Amino acid sequence: MYEKKDNRSADNQPKLTSLTELGEFGLIDRLTKNVKYHHPETLMGIGDDAAVIEAGDKVILFSTDLLVEGIHFDLTYMPFKHLGYKAAVVNISDIAAMNGVPKQMTVSLAVSSRFSAEALDELYAGVVMACEKYKVDLVGGDTSSNVKGLMISVSILGEAKKEEVTYRSGARSGDLLCVTGDLGSAYIGLFILEREKSVFKVDPNMQPELSGFDYQIGRQLRPEARTDVRNLLIGIGVKPTSMIDISDGLASEILHLCKQSGVGCKLFEGKIPIDEYTKELAKEYKIIPSVAALSGGEDYELLFTVKQEDYEKIKDIVGITIIGHMTAASEGKLMITPDGKAIPITAQGWDGMRK
Ligand code: ADP
Ligand code: MG
Repeated sequence: MYEKKDNRSADNQPKLTSLTELGEFGLIDRLTKNVKYHHPETLMGIGDDAAVIEAGDKVILFSTDLLVEGIHFDLTYMPFKHLGYKAAVVNISDIAAMNGVPKQMTVSLAVSSRFSAEALDELYAGVVMACEKYKVDLVGGDTSSNVKGLMISVSILGEAKKEEVTYRSGARSGDLLCVTGDLGSAYIGLFILEREKSVFKVDPNMQPELSGFDYQIGRQLRPEARTDVRNLLIGIGVKPTSMIDISDGLASEILHLCKQSGVGCKLFEGKIPIDEYTKELAKEYKIIPSVAALSGGEDYELLFTVKQEDYEKIKDIVGITIIGHMTAASEGKLMITPDGKAIPITAQGWDGMRK
């Protein structure tokens, strides 16, 4: 009797799993399921915005991000200087999301001969500018040629006291769900850039019409990291119970907090902070403004939870909005619309593999 090998297809070829089917997070889970930690200093490994490593009376935060041409950036509208700045900022943002202070970074490049040294000078001017602004030391990297295109990989170290670190897993039922700044503008910025690019493709004599969209385009091309939030919260005596940065869209990040904390949530759609002009533009482009915030991503604001008893301390802080609260896991992960309907939150963020 033959035993049917279930990983073989009808023609007896091994059945391979497509990455599209798996998705980015499915792939990470699959690749890392057998990873074991050997050192007790590794307080947090895979699964948060940064790894957390005990070092004396402090912890080191360690994170890395890869930016790939054609996937994460498009050089038709991304100036090199902005690209360098953004590559640094997205890493600094991951340290901010752990409630830490960014300290050192390395920058590695894989670059094809299509690029000039002058272009890469600009890229580095952007990296250095971000390092100046956020007081981060650029301490090394690696440089390689590449068959095609440009890839930038940045790794970053940060620091915090052990008790200051905010994990994705610390949210509890009843905690208030808060967000810094406003959301969705980076997505509208991207929409405008893509629209002008397609106009330009049809008629190269057309000049891009980008004036008047400075905020939206700036949010997309030159985001900032919210390293200021750490001190703001220390100042009002509030420690978030959990935190994550919004790189992939509000929905996806809320689901990360819920999953890792083992809780549910109620998000009030009408409370999501969105810039007024971004709302107008979204409507003009037939995009529901809250969808730009929920699914757009790249605003690099911080999403965090605080204990309910901190309500008085946080409710009037300019630049922080309470958008909902956490619930028991059994209550589900819901968005309440302005007319009171409860909709399950689903992630449609920038899941790289599905793009
Ligand atoms: P972020 O959006 O904050 O950069 P990611 O969603 O990229 O975080 O990653 C989620 C977690 O999975 C992080 O802890 C990250 O370090 C880890 N991770 C991502 N890719 C890999 C990989 N190829 N191998 C091991 N860990 C990975
Ligand atoms: Mg992150």
